[in-house]
Amino acid sequence: MKEISAVFEHLSPSDPVVITMHQKPDPDAMGSALGLYHFFKKQGYPVKVVSPTNWADFLKWMPGCSDVIDFESKDNKANEYLSSAKWLFCLDYNHFSRTRHMESLLTNLPCKKVLIDHHREPQTECFDFGVSDIKKSSTAEMVYDFIVLSGKKDLLDKDIASCLYAGVMADTGSFRFASTTPSVHHMVAELQMQGIQHAKIHSYTYDNFQENRLRFIGHVLSNRMEVLYEYNTALICIPKADILRFHIKTGDTEGLVNYPLSIQGIEMAALLIDRDEERKWSFRSKETFDCNTFARKYFSGGGHYNASGGRSTDSIEENVKQFKQALKEFSSLP
Ligand code: 5GP
Ligand code: MN
Repeated sequence: MKEISAVFEHLSPSDPVVITMHQKPDPDAMGSALGLYHFFKKQGYPVKVVSPTNWADFLKWMPGCSDVIDFESKDNKANEYLSSAKWLFCLDYNHFSRTRHMESLLTNLPCKKVLIDHHREPQTECFDFGVSDIKKSSTAEMVYDFIVLSGKKDLLDKDIASCLYAGVMADTGSFRFASTTPSVHHMVAELQMQGIQHAKIHSYTYDNFQENRLRFIGHVLSNRMEVLYEYNTALICIPKADILRFHIKTGDTEGLVNYPLSIQGIEMAALLIDRDEERKWSFRSKETFDCNTFARKYFSGGGHYNASGGRSTDSIEENVKQFKQALKEFSSLP
């Protein structure tokens, strides 16, 4: 993988560009992809954004979101755009397996592939150019860096800034995580100077659910959370019946995994959701619990040190058993 700075001498505004992100995009995946989309579009590039799956309603306020193509939807043009792309930009993921049913298609595309991402252990051999930096707060921050590096910072505008702000806001836990460096605050100052409405962006993202979702959270915290004090860990385990009963849809479980971290002494929180095709894990930690290694070692996943995810095709009961066993083993590792 060559350095990202090398792309500028090859990119030309007549080149078709497709921007992709990980499945079930979060605000950083969608915000960074749309920020880059507006940046290219302003320069006249034929550019499209393709998401591997659908996305949460709380992302739909983002400028350009209605132009995004859902690869899984029936009558989409994703295949056509992807096969004629000259450049594939891969944002907020570093392994094609994170793009679900797009994995083999993306792996085999003959175009140039560019990585912009901050997750651990990138599949660098799959990309022609790129930047991978686990110290970065968000992919949105890295897209901002990309725009600055291009020498075209004057193209920043309110649309680009709003999308990037949403990404960095979400991935820093609203500017509280350790990844919130002075550079992040400098960038946010620049974004605000574009006239973004930051209070509205918080509301659109976090105060934009239906009543059923809050009742679901109440139910789950009362009835589905187990606190394992001996491991400073809490586990929330959600059966399919709860998802159906509360009419839970994409995005409604976002943030749920963080609640147990507000309990004194709890260092790690895990969330297990029974989805149709698999059991999906989320892991979050406060400080010294390495969620990335834990997810990678036991649940075919990965991510960051303090936030990761994984998956399994075993039953929910089997997963809980494996989790408790894994915790015991992991906590005794040197
Ligand atoms: P979430 O719990 O929100 O799904 O994911 C937390 C973090 O872990 C995100 O940065 C996400 O990209 C990463 N992640 C989630 N699931 C997986 C997975 O199955 N594999 C890998 N490598 N990373 C994941
Ligand atoms: Mn991210």
